Amino acid sequence: MNKAIPVKQNIDCDSDPSLLTVNQVHEKLENLTQPVSGTERVAIRSALGRVLDQDVVSPINVPPYSNSAMDGYAIGSGDIPEAGHEKSLKVIGTSFAGEPFSGTVNAGECIRIMTGAQIAQGTDTVIMQEHVTREDDDIMINSDHCMGQNVRHPGEDMAKGSVVLKPGKRLIAADIGLLASLGFPEVDVKRKVRVAFFSTGDELKSVGEPLEEGQIYDSNRYTLYGMLETLGVELIDMGVIRDDQQAIEDAFLNAAQIADAVITSGGVSVGEADYVKMTLDKLGKIDFWKVAMKPGKPLALGEIDNAMFFGLPGNPVSVMATFYLFALPALKHMMGMAYEQPITIKASTESLIKKRPGRTDFQRGILQNQDGKLSVSSTGMQASHILSGMSQANCFIVIPQESGSIEAGSEVEVIPFTGLIA
Ligand code: AMP
Ligand code: MG
Repeated sequence: MNKAIPVKQNIDCDSDPSLLTVNQVHEKLENLTQPVSGTERVAIRSALGRVLDQDVVSPINVPPYSNSAMDGYAIGSGDIPEAGHEKSLKVIGTSFAGEPFSGTVNAGECIRIMTGAQIAQGTDTVIMQEHVTREDDDIMINSDHCMGQNVRHPGEDMAKGSVVLKPGKRLIAADIGLLASLGFPEVDVKRKVRVAFFSTGDELKSVGEPLEEGQIYDSNRYTLYGMLETLGVELIDMGVIRDDQQAIEDAFLNAAQIADAVITSGGVSVGEADYVKMTLDKLGKIDFWKVAMKPGKPLALGEIDNAMFFGLPGNPVSVMATFYLFALPALKHMMGMAYEQPITIKASTESLIKKRPGRTDFQRGILQNQDGKLSVSSTGMQASHILSGMSQANCFIVIPQESGSIEAGSEVEVIPFTGLIA
């Protein structure tokens, strides 16, 4: 249970009832986005991280034949002795993986068998080698065995004709192995989503150039690059656009011609040089949303021509938070996956978490497994320009909209970064 500390007069002074909740933004994004069309056939190794665009139907049984799960002896179950008795069986051959025993095993006989080797005719049960005593060509077994033990059956992993993978699945290492186990050299995947991105701001300098008075380095294009590259989209880096309405309008229209999605950072607040908002108002197809969240309140989402548009805030932490929380599920949807909100888990907070009611907080935290108990600690200062906190963090600590501060030792919800993208 969260133990919210009573907060007298401690409301969020910036709170505004017209703000959208985080859930409302998710609902809008799910409706606004749809999978791109276009399929590519690629070699299965190149399909890693791509989104499947076909049903995968098993053309064979996997495993294809009955085989042993153990190194041991294959017997007919009729030879399992009665309770408390022992029985001697004659070893008449061996079945290796890839080199089956071709004869028939009769009552009173058995074969030596290796893991993965085909079960021989006349046998249906495998006894682990550790459970027999062998003397020359005979083994002695006791009664502690069951019919059918240690035998793998054809099709019990994947049955011939069954659908084993469906469209919309992002292919992971296991899937690549699975496709190989079915004998497929290639597979159909969705084409990559094309994402154009740029930074806005007259104060921004690119790396490698000296900073002059009042300038900062453009970091957002690099964090965006990292997140988009990990996601596996086709990137179009359009650089830095200066705070000039015409330049921004040109960049938008140009980006929308070449990309499925356009992501910008900065210029969406209501400062004098926030031309992104002005340009969007002019282009018209944009909902400008202020979201009841921290960081990341100003956020512009919508469409320019046929491209999906994400106007993320300028502050470095806000960019990453709004990308992870909103652009990511939307882009995954465009990539062909189901629209899904991030997975949250519960952890115990090690420290007091300061917060005022009014907005959902996504504080930067460090999640740890301490002897099986999940605990989370704050990275320290939580302002939206503290990019170093984002670098130290491995999760967001999510504090609900109406909650005040949370006492140390309380249970909180956490969104681990691991698994957000993959
Ligand atoms: P803005 O929304 O354009 O007013 O930007 C908000 C804050 O984020 C300001 O402090 C900007 O200097 C900063 N900022 C905007 N774009 C970037 C960027 N690409 N890299 C680093 N900081 C940025
Ligand atoms: Mg700016």
